[in-house]
Amino acid sequence: MKEIILAYQGEMTLKGLNRGKFEAGLAKSIRHRLEDLGPFKVHSAQSTVFIEPQEDDLDVDEAFRRISKVFGIVKLSRAVCCTKDFEDICRTAEAYLGPQLRGLRTFKVEAKRADKKYPMKSPEICRELGAYILSHHNYLRVDVHNPQLEIMVEIRDNGAYIHGPKVEAAGGLPVGTSGRALNLLSGGIDSPVAAYCMARRGLALHHIHFASPPYTSLRAKLKVQALACELSEYIGDCVLFVVPYTKPQEYIRDHAPAPLFTVLMRRSMLRIAEKVASKSAMEALITGESLAQVASQTMAALACTDAAQSLPVLRPLIGMDKTDIVAISRKIGTFETSIEPYEDCCTIFTPPHPKTKPTLAEIEAAEANMPGLAELEQVAADTVEKIFVRIGDQPEF
Ligand code: ATP
Ligand code: MG
Repeated sequence: MKEIILAYQGEMTLKGLNRGKFEAGLAKSIRHRLEDLGPFKVHSAQSTVFIEPQEDDLDVDEAFRRISKVFGIVKLSRAVCCTKDFEDICRTAEAYLGPQLRGLRTFKVEAKRADKKYPMKSPEICRELGAYILSHHNYLRVDVHNPQLEIMVEIRDNGAYIHGPKVEAAGGLPVGTSGRALNLLSGGIDSPVAAYCMARRGLALHHIHFASPPYTSLRAKLKVQALACELSEYIGDCVLFVVPYTKPQEYIRDHAPAPLFTVLMRRSMLRIAEKVASKSAMEALITGESLAQVASQTMAALACTDAAQSLPVLRPLIGMDKTDIVAISRKIGTFETSIEPYEDCCTIFTPPHPKTKPTLAEIEAAEANMPGLAELEQVAADTVEKIFVRIGDQPEF
């Protein structure tokens, strides 16, 4: 029996006139994820994407696993399709789900009629199909409240679809339908979660990472590359821009008042990120900052950081506790890589007593004493390394 995958669209069904754009974005993401698994036909109808293997031996388990990470889908099921002839529906349901019912005590049938012209109403379909199933399984009974297995029948325009319970999928909006942004990716726990949250709202992302060799090692960079690969299961192929940041960072260390060092460095990083983003038509920056987590993430420090450049800075974790962030990090599979102990440029040269309430006036005064910084930032932006991150890559570090 040929199984297909049904992917139920979420919030995007509310998008009115823009719905076509969202559906096209979703179909594109799904095709991209399945590309190397063989030929699958992907098409949308009635708020659902139908994913049909075009050959017998395609890996439907792997296709299902991958599609469960595609944003824009709220639920998924594996199903079989048959004609809308009721006898065919009964026979197909028994052949497909009968083996799963063996050994169970309770079940229920749920019917949904997207084809409103179908001659049987939903309660009648449930009753009649339920009776048919019962006649094939001696010890089974119907439990409408707490069944061990739910059999779903969807009567659609082009046929009937039969499946077990739907499973939760990734939710959100298809990647690329909300624009493009550049994510500041460190090796920590927070920034991969920030990328995930914003991609889930439909942003197409690339990453930028600041490396300061020899203070930061090659392995630290490879760790960031590994995180970018892990994220690509959700956000698709992307570019990791690696900025050679040693010179600007040393310059700031040598010229800045120590208590202001971190905020001055964050401003410098954002200015470079803005240059890289603008070159590739990215409309916003993303960081994993969370209010009051560290000295550079107080309101006053964030205000100074924001004033450094003109792109919007999106901070999806701003109101989250670390425990919430860790829970998402575990769920999306980046946590184990994030906790590997490698140095980050943000944790070198940090002063013992960073100022938690810097003012923009004192920050700008400090920058006026750093006339060589703009040139070093420009060189760093111009010599950025581009690493292509593809789904399925697994760099060792
Ligand atoms: P994370 O767990 O993501 O490292 P953090 O709590 O350690 O975050 P900071 O080190 O202050 O916080 O960094 C705040 C944010 O700045 C990070 O979430 C990330 O977006 C960005 N950032 C920090 N270091 C780098 C880096 N080396 N390259 C790119 N972005 C960075
Ligand atoms: Mg960090």
